[in-house]
Formats: sequence, C-alpha cells, structure tokens
Amino acid sequence: MSPEALATQSLHLSELAPRTLQSEIRAMTVACDNMGGVNLAQGVCDTDPPPIVAEAAQRAIRDGYNIYTRLDGIARLRNAVAAQLARTHSLTVDPDREILITSGATGAFQAALCALLNPGDEVLIFEPFYGYHAGMLRGVRAVPVPVALAAPIAPESEWQLDPVAVRAAITPRTRAMIVCTPSNPAGKIYTLPELESLAAIAEEHNLFVFTDEIYEHFVYEGRNHISPASLPGLRERTILISGFSKTFSVTGWRVGYVVADPKWIPSIGYFHDLLYICAPSPFQHACADGVEQLSSSFYTALAQEHLAKRTLLVDGLRTAGLTPHVPDGAYYILANTGSLEGANAAEKSRNLLARTGVASVAGSAFFRPGSPVGENLLRFCFAKKDQDLHEACRRLATLS
Ligand code: PLP
Repeated sequence: MSPEALATQSLHLSELAPRTLQSEIRAMTVACDNMGGVNLAQGVCDTDPPPIVAEAAQRAIRDGYNIYTRLDGIARLRNAVAAQLARTHSLTVDPDREILITSGATGAFQAALCALLNPGDEVLIFEPFYGYHAGMLRGVRAVPVPVALAAPIAPESEWQLDPVAVRAAITPRTRAMIVCTPSNPAGKIYTLPELESLAAIAEEHNLFVFTDEIYEHFVYEGRNHISPASLPGLRERTILISGFSKTFSVTGWRVGYVVADPKWIPSIGYFHDLLYICAPSPFQHACADGVEQLSSSFYTALAQEHLAKRTLLVDGLRTAGLTPHVPDGAYYILANTGSLEGANAAEKSRNLLARTGVASVAGSAFFRPGSPVGENLLRFCFAKKDQDLHEACRRLATLS
C-alpha cells in the first residue's frame, strides 16, 4: 500500500510520513549496486581513514570505552575541538559550556532544530541546497524557504548570493537561515562580503544562523573557509555545526559537534540526549586522537588529494560532453546533462546509469519542486578511491 493510502487508514502514518521518502541519492545507490556500477551518487567518502584515527578506535574499544559518555561528549574531544577552532578561526570557545559532541552533524542539526524552532517557523536555505536541511526542517514542522543562488554564468565562475533576494524572502515568521559552507552540492565557499551581508540581515531581523561546515577542510586553489561564527555580531546567534565524517572518512562512525552560545547549548544537549544519548564512545576517543595529533599538513594533504580527484573527474565529465561547474570546495561536481535523454534530471541520471554504469544524483534533488534549473544538472561525488574515479571516467568516455 502506498504511503498516501496508509496515511488515511484508521491506524495511520503521521501527516509527515508520506512526504518523507527514500532520498533520490539512496535510490540511486541501490540501483547502482544492483548493476555493479560505479557509485558517484552518494557522498559516502570511501577513501581510508587516517591510520592514527583508525588505530585509536580499535584501542579505545580494547581499553573499555564502550559505554555511554556524558551527554555533552568526552572532555578530551571538546577540548581538542576548542583548541582547533582557536587555531584555525581565532574563535574562543569554552569547551565545557559551548561545545556539544553529537551523533554526526545530522544529530547536531536535529537536536538544534528541536531546541530552537517552533512549528511554522520559516528558515531560509540557499538553493541549490542539501536535501537533508529541508527534510530535517520539515521534520520539526518548520518551513524551509529556498532562496535561489544566482547560477554561474561560466563553468569556472561561482554560484552567487543575492542579498536582495535574501531580504525579499524574509517574513514575520522567519527565524533562521542555514549557511552551508563549503556547500553541498555546489561546492560554494561563502566569501567574506557575502557572510557580512548575511550577518547584517541576521542581526536586523534577529535570526539564528545555523551553519553546516562539514566540508570545512575541502577547499581548493587557495580558497579559504571562513567560519560564520568568527564574524563580529554573529557569534551569539550562530549555531556552528560540523563533524568528522568527511575529514576523517568515517561517515559510519557518527561523530559531529555543535558550537553555540551557553544560552543554547543545554537545551540542544537535552534534545540530543533524548534522540541519541551520545555519539559512539570509542569513536569520540578516536576522533580526539585525530584532532590532537594530526598536524596542519594532514589537512593540506587532504585538500590536495581531493583537488587531484576533482581534476580527474572534471576532465572525465568534459570528455563525456557533460559540462561541469568547477567547485571551489566540498567534493561534488554539478554538471550539465548535455545530450542525455530524459524528460527530467531523474530520467537523465537513470539513463546515464543504464548507459555507462555510473551513478549520479538528479540535480532536482537540490532544488524546490518544479524549479527548472535542477532538471538540467547531475551531481557527481569525487571523494572516491582513484581507481574508481578512473573507472568512472573510462565508462563516461563511452558517451562521447
Ligand atoms: N552536511 C552536509 C552538507 C552533508 O553533505 C552531509 C553528508 O553528506 C552531512 C552534513 C552529514 O554529516 P554527518 O555524517 O556528520 O551527519
């Protein structure tokens, strides 16, 4: 029985359930696995974790760190995150009052949205957006309000924030905005002037700024990640969210964090406790070892390694006739669908999978329903082992 039909039975699903379906990304992953293809759809990041971190996890399990931790996470990891924020963003953060270790960035979002939003509150999200942001907002009965970024006019240029469009989207119900930088899917790194204009708008309209900085270390060709909380006036209203899934290639470990003013952290922590109790204990220890022991050269090498992967896939997509937008950060490429057949991006993506065995995500997954821009885009992930990227490029070349 369909979710719509189930919702009308006497024992029924919630009102939200019929609109909360398997994401197109998961669906493509299943279709790709079924045909033994190369999965560039999901941001699973199947490169190896740093050995220091992987070994620390095994040691932590052997040493007995297998039980619940404090609800705000282990002190060693909170201290390490605070030290890193001071080093990289000159942010002074009290590890006992302003940091909460969470079940991934996703758990951080869930808890923060529960603690800070009411049903009907409107939250600005910049389009193209990460589908989970919109989905999680709907999950707490808040209303995601997409504000379109101006599309790049050339493959090498950037998606741009239009402050006039941001202001135009604000209503008396607007309570917050989500700034994902570097962004998924566009790889956009918000510039200082863009963040300053968002800061001015947030202050003027008294908005929370939820950030998603999970790709903070994936920045290319001299681009710099600016943490919005480091801007004057934004610290108190910013809920900084990040984590280790991507940086340490440990998406299955579920360790992230929130940094926020001491006014907000306790409530966010109580919701996180209700939803998850704590992030997995041995993996908190392992991430602490990573943050404490890996020097800046690890992060530089991470970015360089992914820049090489980006180059490989950009070239492969160009050869295939799918014009890629070259991202400044994160590890996804949005590419034009070229001459692929299909009435919409989902069909084009399935067509590409059938013809080449390469899985991508339909661009429409990152735009509001009915937006034409996403229907001509596909998203490809390049956080893959080099051998898989070479194989994907070989397969894509058969299109040309
Ligand atoms: N935020 C963004 C923008 C992402 O792309 C992803 C994963 O793809 C996540 C958060 C998930 O982070 P975590 O694994 O820490 O929950």
